[in-house]
Amino acid sequence: MSSELFPSNVIIIGAGVFGLSTALAIAKRHPTTKVTVIDRLVPPVADGESVDTTRCIRADYDDPVYARLAKEAQRKLEDDPDLSRHMFRQGMTWVSDGQPDENTESWKVQFELAKASSNPDDIVIFNSREEVYQTIHGENALPPSNVKPRWTMGYCNLENAFIDAKECIQVYYDRCLRIPSMTVRCGTPVRQITSVNGKATGVILEDGNSVTADLVIVAAGAWSNKLVDLGNRASSIAIAVAWIKVTPEEEARWKGMSITTNLNTGLNLFPPYRGEMKVLCRLGGYKNTVLVQHPEDPSRTMQISHPRTLITHPSDLIPADAEATIRENLREIMPMLADRPFDRTRLCWRSRAPTEDFLIAPHPRIAGIHLATAGSGHGWKFLPVIGDFIVDSVQGTLPRELQEMWAFHRYHERVRPDRNFASIVLETNSIHLSAPPERWRYTARLDHQG
Ligand SMILES: Cc1cc2nc3c(=O)[nH]c(=O)nc-3n(C[C@H](O)[C@H](O)[C@H](O)COP(=O)(O)OP(=O)(O)OC[C@H]3O[C@@H](n4cnc5c(N)ncnc54)[C@H](O)[C@@H]3O)c2cc1C
Repeated sequence: MSSELFPSNVIIIGAGVFGLSTALAIAKRHPTTKVTVIDRLVPPVADGESVDTTRCIRADYDDPVYARLAKEAQRKLEDDPDLSRHMFRQGMTWVSDGQPDENTESWKVQFELAKASSNPDDIVIFNSREEVYQTIHGENALPPSNVKPRWTMGYCNLENAFIDAKECIQVYYDRCLRIPSMTVRCGTPVRQITSVNGKATGVILEDGNSVTADLVIVAAGAWSNKLVDLGNRASSIAIAVAWIKVTPEEEARWKGMSITTNLNTGLNLFPPYRGEMKVLCRLGGYKNTVLVQHPEDPSRTMQISHPRTLITHPSDLIPADAEATIRENLREIMPMLADRPFDRTRLCWRSRAPTEDFLIAPHPRIAGIHLATAGSGHGWKFLPVIGDFIVDSVQGTLPRELQEMWAFHRYHERVRPDRNFASIVLETNSIHLSAPPERWRYTARLDHQG
């Protein structure tokens, strides 16, 4: 598609990483195109996947394509002063329990990769449980002896960083607001994408108003599968997150620590930031199955997992099994926080593909709808580059390897046995939730953690 043929009127549903990055890329490359960004809420959207206190920025993927793109994205984040002032290059430590299983094998692969792809001076190795513990607590500190050792060896890649995700989304949103060709309509969800004779014509909002366009880009994250039938290509899965308040003395003591993740237990611990520490369970997750009207055929229904968030259920807490996992891990790696009350918790919903690849492709049945979703738990770091790839995809100029990787139909072909997978089952004994989400059997791709 030549530049002149690019649609003159585009709707983007969703103002997270995928939507805002796309809006800015269109404004830059096709300044005469009229763009309308629509979101249920005003960005930074409190329950959106892109909005959080922190996100990991790294490029040490085992997949050379993602590694290359992540490196380019990290460089752009660092070169953008509005974003880089929210970025803290303190490294990421990956820990293993050293037991002979697939997670430990995966850890070894990641370690070799980090060594091969990073400056050798940026890789720090921790050969023992004491060294892992001391990297957080200081050189004379000793790990507790009354727990089963799971944090026993690790390495840190000092090239990795954490970023204030909410502040950066605010930066991107503010940039959109300043662009004359862009309209931002936030506060009312899209109810339905309209189409005539197999071609999208626009959207109807929940308040009954309609907006017309030549192209509708669905960047609605974990909510996308209600607006379009994604089949098994992407499903909505929640990850449990908790925040714990720390004292100024504790913050000063742990300030320099890296993001620390145990590949066997799935616990992901962030350095203290603004008086609190964030902890999340990266393995496993939760579904919330609902029956909705089929977007292409109102006479049919379809069953999907759909986000249930603090916006509609403010009293929800994370499931009890997630809390237990977090506290059990803390007992070994941050024992002084293990019994401290959570300040707040959240189930953070993500749109996840079985291969953890993104979905950036035309809708397989309806012309004029483009899909830009399935961030799959690792898409945030691509903020400065993902929008350009989505525009390339709309234009049909996406490089072939990316086109195939992110296509609608290719998901099952990319689940290759030689990739790093671990099977996890989480029991959801969610006494905190009035209507508990379901148990979910899940396969996680370890190299895409964060
Ligand atoms: C717990 C967790 C930790 C993560 N950690 C990392 C990390 O460390 N590093 C990393 O790179 N990535 C990470 N990710 C992944 C990353 O956050 C996502 O890939 C990325 O934010 C996805 O962005 P998005 O734009 O697709 O989704 P979202 O940010 O959710 O945007 C979708 C938007 O669509 C809107 N919307 C939905 N339905 C409608 C509707 N009907 N009408 C109008 N608007 C609608 C929503 O309100 C929302 O604002 C993590 C994800 C999770 C869940």
